[in-house]
Amino acid sequence: EESAFQKERKKAYFAPEMDSPSDVAETFATMNLSRPILKGLAQVGFVQPTPIQAKTIPVALMGKDICGGAVTGSGKTAAFVVPVLERLLYRSRQTATSRVLVLCPTRELAIQCHSVAQKLASFTDITFGLCVGGLSRNAQEIQLRSRPDVLIATPGRLIDHILNSQSFTLDHIDILIMDEADRMLEEGFQAELTEIVNACPLKRQTMLFSATMTDNVDELIRMSLNRPVRLQIDASNA
Ligand code: ADP
Ligand code: MG
Repeated sequence: EESAFQKERKKAYFAPEMDSPSDVAETFATMNLSRPILKGLAQVGFVQPTPIQAKTIPVALMGKDICGGAVTGSGKTAAFVVPVLERLLYRSRQTATSRVLVLCPTRELAIQCHSVAQKLASFTDITFGLCVGGLSRNAQEIQLRSRPDVLIATPGRLIDHILNSQSFTLDHIDILIMDEADRMLEEGFQAELTEIVNACPLKRQTMLFSATMTDNVDELIRMSLNRPVRLQIDASNA
């Protein structure tokens, strides 16, 4: 049986309209997060959300698409990982599917994101997979077959799996995150990103983060986001 809270959350997830972001929360404790998530945050020592976290988390929890501008070091990882974990807490466990895809520009950034996400999820049963170059392709294929809830990948290696791994698809992704979009485009992943976005279901939540908003980033935003809320954090108060 679904609780009233779960029903409310689901409704919020699919609600297309919400005019403006809600007020910035003072602490994670006032953000209406579930206990296992609050415990994960406490364990990594995060008490006060950074500005990008304070703006992103409430909007992301409503299911809105987000276009976030924030420089390196502003705390983007937890800004998208926290709402993802919150959402996954209420997933149905009947079928194992990868529901969340996080794209990062480099192997190092993907590994970092994977490690932070795992720590934040310490008090949950949410599972993670890492899909990057330089790790054994076969081992990754086996990991992908177990369908981790969250897949953290670089675009190149992910495309490789889409094309070559039996039965690997993005058909069940309902949250797509593009971290450091400007860097992914600088790395030359434009074609891969287009292909990956098109391989995800249309009905999904998408969050894109970028330190700079170039024409190429704008184009990616237009092709991948649906009426996004724009959240901009100035370098001075990041
Ligand atoms: P970005 O992805 O924007 O470059 P990160 O998510 O890597 O930023 O975070 C940058 C640093 O800030 C990391 O060392 C992280 O542990 C720390 N950090 C992030 N959020 C918080 C927080 N709410 N409280 C304290 N430290 C934080
Ligand atoms: Mg980052």
